[in-house]
Amino acid sequence: MPPVSSKYDVIVVGGGHNGLVNAAYLAKAGKKVLVLERRHILGGSACTDEVFPGFKFSVCSYVVSLLRPEIIRDLELPRHGLEILPLDGTFTPMPSGDYLWRVNDHGRTHREIARHSRIDAEAYDEFGKAMQAMCRFVKPILSMIPPDPMTLNPRELMKLLFIGRRFQGMSSGDKYNQVQLMTMSAADFLDQWFETDVLKATMSASGIIGTFLGVRSPGTAYVLLHHYMGEIDGAFRAWGFARGGTGAISNAIADAAREAGVEIRTQAPIARIIVKNDAKNGRATGVVLSNGDEIYADAVSSSVDPRLTFTKMIEPGHLPDDFMEGVQRYKFRGSSGKVNMALDGLPNFKCMPGDGLHLRGAMSISPAVEYMEKAYDEAKYGHWSSHPYIDMVIPTLTDTSLAPPGKHILSCFVQYAPYKLAPGLDWDTEREKFGDAVVNTIAEYAPNIKDIILHRQVVTPLDLEREWGLSEGNIFQGELSLEQLFFLRPVAGWAQFRSPIKNLYMCGSATHPGGGIMGAPGRLAALEILKDGGA
Ligand SMILES: Cc1cc2nc3c(=O)[nH]c(=O)nc-3n(C[C@H](O)[C@H](O)[C@H](O)COP(=O)(O)OP(=O)(O)OC[C@H]3O[C@@H](n4cnc5c(N)ncnc54)[C@H](O)[C@@H]3O)c2cc1C
Repeated sequence: MPPVSSKYDVIVVGGGHNGLVNAAYLAKAGKKVLVLERRHILGGSACTDEVFPGFKFSVCSYVVSLLRPEIIRDLELPRHGLEILPLDGTFTPMPSGDYLWRVNDHGRTHREIARHSRIDAEAYDEFGKAMQAMCRFVKPILSMIPPDPMTLNPRELMKLLFIGRRFQGMSSGDKYNQVQLMTMSAADFLDQWFETDVLKATMSASGIIGTFLGVRSPGTAYVLLHHYMGEIDGAFRAWGFARGGTGAISNAIADAAREAGVEIRTQAPIARIIVKNDAKNGRATGVVLSNGDEIYADAVSSSVDPRLTFTKMIEPGHLPDDFMEGVQRYKFRGSSGKVNMALDGLPNFKCMPGDGLHLRGAMSISPAVEYMEKAYDEAKYGHWSSHPYIDMVIPTLTDTSLAPPGKHILSCFVQYAPYKLAPGLDWDTEREKFGDAVVNTIAEYAPNIKDIILHRQVVTPLDLEREWGLSEGNIFQGELSLEQLFFLRPVAGWAQFRSPIKNLYMCGSATHPGGGIMGAPGRLAALEILKDGGA
């Protein structure tokens, strides 16, 4: 443990993957950096934990796609142990006994969709091309410091011009698509392309992840694009598993950071950020840990969300009212839960019995658009969905190191689990009932599931808040809705990773370009800190 009088260039609040990326880039530029993490392990929502003896769970996030290629390159993550394994396809069982099974093999997917609708099989190719064009437009924005559209500063105007020119360069069809993506619901957008209900339902699921919106809510079409933007080893929109679980991604980043000289401490919760009153709204000069230790630095970079950073860690009086109003307006509205199971065997789907490649990809309980919308209807009035949308993976079929031989892990991402329950309900008493609803829903398609569960962990939005420090349990440190993206994330006028307090920066998923295992906020914030040279 360093002596309490140690002085650093930058202290990073939180050892999630963005905090670690931030620290690594700063240290590689020669800064003396300390990362302080509250939990016993690193990674935040990208963590692997042995929840039951012998079973290592990606407790929160479970698949990867969005991690920026420049970060993998700059930090040489494969040399530090990062290995991404393929996740092939999405299998959607249907109550009728049929299924929809899309894989990465174009010909097979075309034939499978044609089995449901020939028109959709043709449209699927066109849709893929259109989405690729949309992604080409949006992708450079992910690596860009958001412009401040309210200033006449030529540098900011150039950024707006860059976006305007790119938009102008698109075909008129792509322009219309882009505007529709920004404004429509995922279901309405997909209705324009396809007729097969189960296809639209499964595809629309990407539009609601991490939001408190339904597939028919305007704005969800854009979220769909956010999840389309990934790539694995150059393969467009591919998703994969990290060998060792998503914690292995964070550990590879931590390893790169340590190699660059970063000091990392776990079980080091920060109670307060120290602000000195020698600048307009004060200047950050260090942190106070929960045990009272004070550690000083020229700058503090917070990877926790703005509610925690500005209302819990900063004493009142340092921040302007309009900024604080923005922080209070920022929406979290957690809507997701996770059910992790240790299994004694594999689920046996009625519609495709036995072991097979369909178990090696994602399995999606999203049989119809109406099913998805009804799941949201319950959540709107403060109830978890009795028949939720579930996205399941069995990582042990790809990475045997995660469980004892012959045993498996079933990781279920579930929506909706609203943070705010109806009066009279609370998550501590609803937790296991919610877990039962998830198991019962899966059992409608794979009845043997109940016989093979050895252990079950139910993670509610309240658990995400208590244990992972995610306000209101939002998995992305704040909803990925259009009104809080790009130059509006997290607060209008404060999207460039700075805050009204001098030398206090933000570097987590609550900043541009938002949530997911991307690392982009951590990297962009580091570049801005270095640009200021203050640290
Ligand atoms: C259930 C769930 C499922 C998800 N699934 C996926 C997925 O499959 N794929 C994907 O790409 N993304 C997924 N995500 C989103 C993704 O995991 C997150 O957006 C991302 O990991 C956030 O990284 P971060 O570093 O910005 O923040 P966090 O991971 O939130 O890191 C912040 C860190 O700060 C620490 N901290 C909090 N308070 C303090 C304090 N007082 N002092 C010190 N440290 C503190 C926290 O413990 C945490 O480690 C999921 C998230 C959740 C919760």
